[in-house]
Amino acid sequence: MIRSLLIANRGEIACRVIRTARRLGIRTVAVHSDADARALHVREADESVHVGPSPARESYLLGERIIAAAKETGAEAIHPGYGFLSENADFAEAVIESGLIWVGPKPQSIRAMGLKDAAKKLMAEAGVPVTPGYLGEEQAPERLQAEADAIGYPVLIKAVAGGGGKGMRKVNASGEFAEMLASCKREAAASFGDDRVLIEKYIERPRHIEVQVFGDAHGNVVHLFERDCSLQRRHQKVIEEAPAPGMDEATRAAVCEAAVKAARAVDYVGAGTIEFIADGSQGLRADRIWFMEMNTRLQVEHPVTEEITGEDLVEWQLRVAAGETLPKRQDELAIQGHAIEARLYAEDPVNQFLPSTGRLDHFDLPRTLRIETGVEEGDRISPWYDPMIAKLVSHGPSRAWAIDELVGALEAVEVWPVRTNAAFLARAAADADFRAGEVDTGFIPSKLESLLPDPAPSEGVWNMAAAAMLAVDFGEDGEGDPWSALAGFRANAAEAARISLSHAGTTRTIEADAERPLEGVATASGGSVLVFSDGQAFAFTLPGAAGSSGAGDALDGAVQSPMPGRVIAVDVSAGTKVERGQKLVTLEAMKMEHSLTAPFAGIVTELNVAEGAQVSEGALLVRIEKGEGE
Ligand code: ADP
Ligand code: ADP
Ligand code: MG
Repeated sequence: MIRSLLIANRGEIACRVIRTARRLGIRTVAVHSDADARALHVREADESVHVGPSPARESYLLGERIIAAAKETGAEAIHPGYGFLSENADFAEAVIESGLIWVGPKPQSIRAMGLKDAAKKLMAEAGVPVTPGYLGEEQAPERLQAEADAIGYPVLIKAVAGGGGKGMRKVNASGEFAEMLASCKREAAASFGDDRVLIEKYIERPRHIEVQVFGDAHGNVVHLFERDCSLQRRHQKVIEEAPAPGMDEATRAAVCEAAVKAARAVDYVGAGTIEFIADGSQGLRADRIWFMEMNTRLQVEHPVTEEITGEDLVEWQLRVAAGETLPKRQDELAIQGHAIEARLYAEDPVNQFLPSTGRLDHFDLPRTLRIETGVEEGDRISPWYDPMIAKLVSHGPSRAWAIDELVGALEAVEVWPVRTNAAFLARAAADADFRAGEVDTGFIPSKLESLLPDPAPSEGVWNMAAAAMLAVDFGEDGEGDPWSALAGFRANAAEAARISLSHAGTTRTIEADAERPLEGVATASGGSVLVFSDGQAFAFTLPGAAGSSGAGDALDGAVQSPMPGRVIAVDVSAGTKVERGQKLVTLEAMKMEHSLTAPFAGIVTELNVAEGAQVSEGALLVRIEKGEGE
């Protein structure tokens, strides 16, 4: 077995790998950037090496520097996690050439699956059903348009080098094709340095079904059943589960067999995922499931597979990398119960899902289910990396049971002042259609309005805040914890008492009723109360108290960059007349695109950025003045 392992990643996946390595008695070496000098994965590893400044391009993506770190610390093997260098065949090759063990598939397998068009051709040759479409070399716009017309609309244009939900455009009609193609190619060139595209039939009622596969160096390949990842926002997975709802045995056998065939076709060693797209309009049927792509690494959602099979996939990876045979044969693997994972993001759903950064003054996740996280209370969410801060994974005897557990846990999430999508996830998982297994990739977009929580506190939350505020002895505050916890608190005053409170600019006088049952948890400190309820957090202050929520952005027309990032589009120029909510600038930060919009109708009086500009947090990008005109 491997005795020492360098983990070329950060956050929850680095912590996840360290946990298994430790259990197996393997010494662990972390790498970190400036921003992560005191991060949890660094604290948990036996040793840590600083590899560069905060931007990933200057630290976590520096293959040579990471290999040198492994050499310096005497690590025998490198685990890449997911993202970063995990699907970089050149890096895998360099690791192997330097005499280290690469915990991943052969570089040639990564290469074979790296481009979507080549992968689809290979799969078609191997007899795996692939999404109908055009995979040709010829990229002239006229030719692509003709192919799309022949396939029939809607179609999906996909960057052959794409990933992470980027470089994709759905085209509904022939007349829109040219424009969509141009914008897809622009995005693909900017994001992947390769503007080639393929065209696919857009599958109706699409469901994302993927199969976990595993190979060893002795020619064995097994599958560990399927996952359903249909709940997506902007083509990115939000909630994943295993097994897929409504999957019958015959269909499962067919899709899992196709996945094993796909893995064998590229001589696969290690953990991989074969992604399929299914037409769910008539339930899941074997003749309506097509190969989409292969991810040649461990997947973010691997825990749901671990839960239903009882296996540790990181342990499997390490054993296979050490040359052992697969720990189980196909006939020794079975599905037990149902598991669901929700991705907790540091983002604000009621503010266009903008990432939320800062110190986690309060970070308390329920202990009733499996949690994968890379942060603890007191840590900072920096603007440099992916905003995923934790995964909540429920597992139970039935799907209904797993949903109940997950919803309860999401509603009990307590995070402040960083914003999270917990309430949004809870609403999605509690939705009646989701419970009924009525899932497809249009689920979140079509229900978005009803999944967004109300940013204003409910009556119950106001009452809870008032009761908590009345119970605090302000005089003795200021020592120890910044917040004195009042979990399960009830006001002990016999009669109702009155108190005035403010939340995000709204002040109300509340009659706090000691007899009313309280839902949620409140914590208070001098002059402020925090209420956690159904996954949301609300901050209240006494009227006139300084330093309130900051949620009411200055409405003076100064549009500032909420975080460091790169400007990828500017939609206005100085003098442009804009409507309230009109898109001004698109920023790429924390791996996501964010539109910054006009706070009110007016005229652009200042424009300080151009496409491609790197901007820092707080930079004044655009100024709008209320227009008198017309
Ligand atoms: P997974 O299914 O493992 O999440 P995807 O195929 O959805 O992988 O995404 C590809 C890679 O993009 C993942 O390895 C992951 O590290 C990275 N990624 C994760 N979250 C985001 C995000 N919000 N935006 C862009 N890329 C992301
Ligand atoms: P990425 O590399 O970005 O993960 P994928 O090819 O895996 O790209 O596609 C990402 C998502 O886009 C899928 O999970 C699915 O929701 C949607 N999608 C992809 N192909 C199709 C298609 N042909 N029809 C409908 N939806 C699709
Ligand atoms: Mg994918």
